[in-house]
Amino acid sequence: MKQNIKLIILVLFLSAFGISYVPANVVDSDIKFHPIKHATFVIQSKTATIYVDPVGDPKSFDNYPKPDIILITDIHRDHLNKEVVDNIKGPNTLIICTRDAETQLKKGKILNNGESLNHHGIIIEAIPAYNLTPERLKFHPKGRGNGYLISISGETIYISGDTEDIPEMKSLKNIDYAFVCMNLPYTMTESQAASAVLTFKPKVVFPYHYRGKNGFSNIDKFKTTVEKAGYTKVKLLTWY
Ligand code: ZN
Repeated sequence: MKQNIKLIILVLFLSAFGISYVPANVVDSDIKFHPIKHATFVIQSKTATIYVDPVGDPKSFDNYPKPDIILITDIHRDHLNKEVVDNIKGPNTLIICTRDAETQLKKGKILNNGESLNHHGIIIEAIPAYNLTPERLKFHPKGRGNGYLISISGETIYISGDTEDIPEMKSLKNIDYAFVCMNLPYTMTESQAASAVLTFKPKVVFPYHYRGKNGFSNIDKFKTTVEKAGYTKVKLLTWY
């Protein structure tokens, strides 16, 4: 109770000088990111809620509003589950997905690599997501999967999907928040991910999708490598 009063006094004091107080559990004053698991998360702005690759227990989404948009990046079970999508979508939810995901869902707006749409002022662009390393090509052939670029509330968010450090990622510009995968043997190493991030220089990067066949990627190593360069902040969320 005493703590609460102290906090209220601090907030009033800061607001008197035009300084806004942001509680520790809020990543940004307008956009919030809520990890659910592995590749699954919720983006909340003041005006919209977006679910990314909703899979797992539908109850995980009980605390969030019905999604305005659901984004599906690929067909593997860590990204797509028809029953979950059908269970959690609302009457006005726009499902944006790949062609192969639409075949399974029997619904959704297909966005091919490079295509974009504007949904009530939220701009979504499909960025390619694919493997480059010969022995990994079988996991994500070029053209099937999508990463996404979201422009919302004046911020630009990049979601890598399952990919390696492809030229389309490295040439991104003005990214405020980036979600970048790193797991073997399916996507890329933490070093590949770090080198890509150092090239496109997002303001903030969230490592995600980092559990591989033999355990977790070394996200501390990723964080150290990226932050040493001095321009991108690495934020570690609780994904597992
Ligand atoms: Zn995956």
